[in-house]
Amino acid sequence: MTVLQLYQTAYQTILQNAQEPGSCAFDLSCLLELVFGFDRFHLPSCGSREASPAQAEQFQALCARYLSGEPLQYLLGEWEFFGLPFAVGEGVLIPRPDTETLVETGLSLLRGTASPIIADLCAGSGCVGIALASQRPDATVYALERSEQAFGYLQTNIEKNHAQGVRALLGDALSPPVLPPLDCVVSNPPYIPRCEMETLQPQVKHEPRMALFGGEDGYDFYRALPALYLPRLKPGGTIAFEVGYNQAEQVSNLLAAAGYIGVGVEHDLGGIARVVYGRKPLDSPTPIRTKSHA
Ligand code: GLN
Repeated sequence: MTVLQLYQTAYQTILQNAQEPGSCAFDLSCLLELVFGFDRFHLPSCGSREASPAQAEQFQALCARYLSGEPLQYLLGEWEFFGLPFAVGEGVLIPRPDTETLVETGLSLLRGTASPIIADLCAGSGCVGIALASQRPDATVYALERSEQAFGYLQTNIEKNHAQGVRALLGDALSPPVLPPLDCVVSNPPYIPRCEMETLQPQVKHEPRMALFGGEDGYDFYRALPALYLPRLKPGGTIAFEVGYNQAEQVSNLLAAAGYIGVGVEHDLGGIARVVYGRKPLDSPTPIRTKSHA
């Protein structure tokens, strides 16, 4: 069979069966490129090539997995975030464009701070911390992740991006390990409330529940982390969270209640209030110092 025939058959099957046909052509083109080395725009010139049986089988198997609802990003094994490549697959949250707003906010909060010490909590693939480090080679980023499966991707992505300033730590953001005093905490924690877990797109249901489910009302991490990390921040240090589409106001209140000042919100490209940040007052006590970093 030629590549064009394989593509057309797959495209028709997917169009007839997909739940969201909107992105099918793009998605299928990505799978085409993965297996044959060229995308759908090259079909007129390259489509008449004969596919080897192994390639045909690989392409058809990927299309079947796609139809069964596996995220395209998992099938490709790699996805771009902030212009950088990230290894992804079963067990790790796929980096979203919305989360680039968190990186931008972190960068602007750190402007003027030399050699900043940063903690990226619930780091997952490491996309936030690694993107920050790519723009701030003088930074040290502690990327903390609880899931062993996600931690594997985090380590891979640090290597893949030559992110020398990023240190992967296996551990729970809610019982933090020993860290030096921090200039900035960034986090895209799980924030989906129970009532929305069932209504997630089928592809999202393939992603780790641990990375999505934020407790009954979705606010478990926003209630705990601000108070937990205030003593770990330097005076004047900052904290920034990604939040769900309707959570900015309540998270702002939680930050203010925990003692942060200058609380503000940044919007994503879709116009949604996506990041909430705040600053530790300058007259706050100095951070907890620990033996290993004193
Ligand atoms: N942005 C993700 C989603 O809407 C959720 C990520 C998270 O819970 N931090 O699916």
